[in-house]
Amino acid sequence: MSLQLFSSLGNAKREFRSIVDGKVSMYVCGVTPYDVTHLGHAFSYVHFDALRRYLSWRGFDVRYVQNVTDIDDDMIMVSKREGGRPIAEIRDENDAILRRDLDAMNVLRPHAYPFATDYIPQIIETTQRILDVGGAYAVDGDVFFDVAAFPRYGQLNGITLEALGKLENPESKREEKKRGHLDFLLWQTTEPGEPNWDSPWGPGRPGWSIECTAMSMTLLGEQIDIHGGGRDLKYPHHENEIAQAETASGRDPFCGFWMHNGMLQLEGVKMSKSLGNLVLARNLLPHHSGDHLRLYLLGEHYRSDANYSSESLELLRPRIDRLQTANVAADPAATVQRSHPLIRAFSAAMDDDMNTPLALEILDRAAGRVLDGTSDAGEADALRSAASILGFAFAGARGPVNGDLNA
Ligand SMILES: [Zn+2]
Repeated sequence: MSLQLFSSLGNAKREFRSIVDGKVSMYVCGVTPYDVTHLGHAFSYVHFDALRRYLSWRGFDVRYVQNVTDIDDDMIMVSKREGGRPIAEIRDENDAILRRDLDAMNVLRPHAYPFATDYIPQIIETTQRILDVGGAYAVDGDVFFDVAAFPRYGQLNGITLEALGKLENPESKREEKKRGHLDFLLWQTTEPGEPNWDSPWGPGRPGWSIECTAMSMTLLGEQIDIHGGGRDLKYPHHENEIAQAETASGRDPFCGFWMHNGMLQLEGVKMSKSLGNLVLARNLLPHHSGDHLRLYLLGEHYRSDANYSSESLELLRPRIDRLQTANVAADPAATVQRSHPLIRAFSAAMDDDMNTPLALEILDRAAGRVLDGTSDAGEADALRSAASILGFAFAGARGPVNGDLNA
């Protein structure tokens, strides 16, 4: 069976094919480390970690890049609020907490983890390329992307330019200088005291979306296989990324598969800092193992808007215990055939757009058979193998918990 993944571009499941045979380039939008990250971030990164591992198991050589947006309005706002505290210090402090959380959940570290501020020359160069082909215009030190020059704008979100124009534009900054309502900043002048860099348009700093474009094109090439991120990034961030990359490179499509995870909710409301309804992984980890949290997060499909409650997490405690107990019966050195019925059922579930809830149910049933003594020969070994593909540390999956801090 072939691997089917849902792409937001086209809004459908399609057979996964990579640009280069046997290789997958994968870019996942990282955090803006101006404050704490929450379980919703872990939801995204654990799922993309499982996808990365599954693609590797399927034989692809995967290169996974995740960025850090360490220069933007929020970073500057926190720096000002904290009396001009250096942005790098704020970034490093919050990033260390996120990294500790993800390490505890055995999330493989990215092959590259670029900070936007380390890519200013590439950001300037990409902006210049867009200007050179007439896709952007400069006004008194600000550079705007000219949305009218990119008729495919809106395609990812399945919305026409005309309809988009009627919506409120989250990138409404410097409206008075823009030619079109939907135009967005590639480069911007700064206020006195804000971090800035020299550029052909004068001192300034990047717009938000151009950072991801410059980093992904530098680290993965002009066309990539998979771009991941939260559904809240679909517009305008990812729409902008497509417009920028395809204008700069002249190549279409920039990305083969756009994968968006759902928004984790708390009592039916999306977790967000502004609402103050955050559940933090770091507060759960003293009471629940990383594997327990991984089971919880993978127990929901990545595209669903899962609803978190402490009861639903607690209910999984016997389930993770059962999987771990059954795993003890496995021989870590055993070679598991891909034709084993358990592996076939497991991979059929994963091939269907990463149906991790079903994959985990298949593992649960196998664990039940192992524990009550009705399993087939080799079933415990196959169970361990499948759990390892999903990244569970108890099953020996490589990753930080098992001492593998390298990508
Ligand atoms: Zn991004």
